[in-house]
Amino acid sequence: MSDCVFCKIVTGQMPSTRVFEDEHSLAFMDIGQVNPGHVLVAVKKHADNLYALDGAQAAAVARASVRVARAIRDAFKPEGLSVYQANGKAAGQTVFHYHVHLLPRHAGDGMELTWPVKNPPREMLEDYAAKIRAGLGKPIG
Ligand code: AMP
Ligand code: ZN
Repeated sequence: MSDCVFCKIVTGQMPSTRVFEDEHSLAFMDIGQVNPGHVLVAVKKHADNLYALDGAQAAAVARASVRVARAIRDAFKPEGLSVYQANGKAAGQTVFHYHVHLLPRHAGDGMELTWPVKNPPREMLEDYAAKIRAGLGKPIG
């Protein structure tokens, strides 16, 4: 995608500070650094979001995330680490090229996510689950 910031980072047309790459994924420092050590793991080939991934891309980002997360843990000794990934504007996505945030966390660091639980009855969970199972289709390629 010619006007995609992360595609430009992958090709080197835009600067980035890289920490890891393999055939399908690239990990680089998030320019905003919500906390020190904040890394993004992105797919190399453009995909808008999670829905657009193939199996090789999904596996590569998952494997890279584990490896880079361990390195962040060892380098920055955070109290915790959040994995954050947004799909669509309503979910908070601002760069529409699939990526995962690896965000070191500390008590009182100001990073907040509200979690407005509904605790519906079991029948409702069964109903929701049936709808999802009906749409699973084939395993991703
Ligand atoms: P999201 O809101 O999940 O789409 O996250 C996009 C992230 O990309 C933000 O945390 C930005 O700070 C980060 N970002 C945007 N442009 C760049 C860039 N040129 N280099 C590194 N990180 C970037
Ligand atoms: Zn892109």
